[in-house]
Amino acid sequence: MVNILYNNSLAGIFVTFLAGTVLVFGFETPELNTIKLVWWSILAGLLIVRLTDFFYWRTRLQGTEFDGKWTLRRFIVGALVTAIMWSAYVLLTSQRVGVIELAFTIIIVAAMAGGSATVLASSRLAAIGYSSILLFPSSLVLILSSEHFQNLLGMLGLFFGVVMVISSDKTIKFTKNAIRLKNHNAILVEEMKKEKAEVGRINQELNQAYVKLHKINSSLEDEVFQRTEKIHQLSNLDPLTQLYNRNALTRALNGLLKESKEQDVPLAVLFIDLNGFKKINDALGHDVGDRVLKIITQRIIKEKENGNIGRWGGDEFVLALPGYTVEQAIKKAQHTIRTIEETISFDKNISLNVGASVGVAMSPMHSDDVMQLIQFADIAMYENKKSKQNMPVVFSEKLLQAAQQTEQWREGLSHAINRNELKLVYQPIISTNNSKIAGFEALLRWKFEGKQVSPIVFIPIAEQSSLIISIGAWVLRQACVDALRWSDSSDGTLSVNVSMVQLLHDEFMQTLDDVLRDTLFPPEKLLLEITESVFAESKDKVSSILKRIMERKVRVSIDDFGTGYSSLSQLQTLPFHVVKIDKTFIANIDEKGGAIIRAALYIARELGCKTVAEGIETKEQAMALNSMGVDYMQGFLYSKPKDIVELLEFIKEIDGAVRVVR
Ligand code: C2E
Ligand code: MG
Ligand code: MG
Repeated sequence: MVNILYNNSLAGIFVTFLAGTVLVFGFETPELNTIKLVWWSILAGLLIVRLTDFFYWRTRLQGTEFDGKWTLRRFIVGALVTAIMWSAYVLLTSQRVGVIELAFTIIIVAAMAGGSATVLASSRLAAIGYSSILLFPSSLVLILSSEHFQNLLGMLGLFFGVVMVISSDKTIKFTKNAIRLKNHNAILVEEMKKEKAEVGRINQELNQAYVKLHKINSSLEDEVFQRTEKIHQLSNLDPLTQLYNRNALTRALNGLLKESKEQDVPLAVLFIDLNGFKKINDALGHDVGDRVLKIITQRIIKEKENGNIGRWGGDEFVLALPGYTVEQAIKKAQHTIRTIEETISFDKNISLNVGASVGVAMSPMHSDDVMQLIQFADIAMYENKKSKQNMPVVFSEKLLQAAQQTEQWREGLSHAINRNELKLVYQPIISTNNSKIAGFEALLRWKFEGKQVSPIVFIPIAEQSSLIISIGAWVLRQACVDALRWSDSSDGTLSVNVSMVQLLHDEFMQTLDDVLRDTLFPPEKLLLEITESVFAESKDKVSSILKRIMERKVRVSIDDFGTGYSSLSQLQTLPFHVVKIDKTFIANIDEKGGAIIRAALYIARELGCKTVAEGIETKEQAMALNSMGVDYMQGFLYSKPKDIVELLEFIKEIDGAVRVVR
């Protein structure tokens, strides 16, 4: 409001000054000259003040947040004082000037009033006050005058004044409305600006939130990825070697097999099993075992080329090689064995050697099923292990049949005791110096599906499946029971074969005690035959068992001496009573066997052991052994193993000494 008033005021001030100057100096009225001059001076002074105020507003106030009320009051005062000045001029001059001057004056005043309606329209007080002060007092004075002409002018002024007030009022309303709208608009614009800024800010925040969210999202994605990876590792990789576990390997092999079929190339599967790993684990602990496995894993990984490798079990690995022919696979297997065999050293003082047995199966030659290929390679590996040679074995139909046969036997063996299929036969052992029976060796027989199965075959199968524990216990008990039947007619010892697995089993001592207690068989007549593989086991464990056996007055003999792991010097480390020289040396007695027998006999005697030669088939062998000083003889030359009934008859028949009967 104030701004509009001030903006319009410059022209008003100028017009007022011009109009006043024209009125004062334009008409010659000598008696009024002084009054007019005084009036003009006051008006000029007033206008200077208002002009100053205008410039003050323009330079200091405009565009700032100034005090509107106070400035408005100042302006209104200026305007109303100006109006009073004009009103005073009319009142002072109207009665003394001529008709023309008066008319001119009234016209000017009316024009001033007319102009004020718009110029001062933003203030009701200023606009209406200005025109009212300007017109009403002077019009009233003119109406009250005695001059008719003046009355007319007065009437006209009054009428004009009323019209002015009414039209001013409208203009004021309009102007005020316009101002309000403009301000409102400005407020709206301001609000819009604010809202726009707010929207901008929110937008920015949203953007930041989005960026944040994106980051969180991608870190979540990362986490999900890592977890999936972890789950993948846990479910697919063997934790120790980080190789594929069984499941993952089978899947990978299925893929390789499919590709090989599509490309029409063979696929070789190598089943690798470590030799001697169990011993390392038992003797040096699982930590060392784990480290050895890791080192060997690295060695096998180097062999894998474009194939796949997985850990099948404890010390078993499977290596699949696409595109390999049998010959290439064998070469690779040999190379792998050599690599594994290289000395493993760590911690400065530990250096050890591990071997490997490898079996090879080929697709499509042997099978196009992954599980079957692995099984076939496993069968071939087992054959390699049995052969104890460094030459990998390739699967064959014959091996499969043998494996199936073994499986059948294993199954059959588990029912052998219940089905009464087991039987013991006894082979006499003859004393060299008097040709009398010194004892009998119990030998197990198994008739399975109408056929005799050799103990050389079924004992190892029983050992692998722990069936040997129950079978061995049965043998021991049955032998003692049988032996009591000939103890009247012969005071010979009873030799019973005990498998290493059986001997090392926790139950063994209990079984021995039970049998001795139940059968009342004299323990000093019992001789346990243990194969030489005993030397491959932990010496402490074996010697503690042997000690406990001897505490019961039971004696121990070492069977098949010379064929297994022992060196002659090892004999002194474990307490044995009897050494049985293996029949292979007896069969070769004319060749190198003789020398070995002599050496063995010498050592055995030095260590205070009795000696037995087994597998004697000819008189020559018997004579040679006799001259070498063997204590006891055993073999077909004297007697084949006989069942208990035949044996009892045999004992009766020979009546004392055995004189080389067939
Ligand atoms: P071993 O303890 O060395 O038993 C001697 C083997 O030589 C027996 O074979 C016997 O029949 C055979 N034999 C005896 N005299 C002669 C001969 O003059 N010439 C030839 N060629 N052989 C002769 P068998 O009964 O077949 O037993 C083989 C192996 O099976 C045994 O060798 C023993 O290691 C094992 N075995 C037999 N019975 C048992 C048993 O009850 N428990 C355990 N753990 N192993 C047993
Ligand atoms: Mg034996
Ligand atoms: Mg033997």
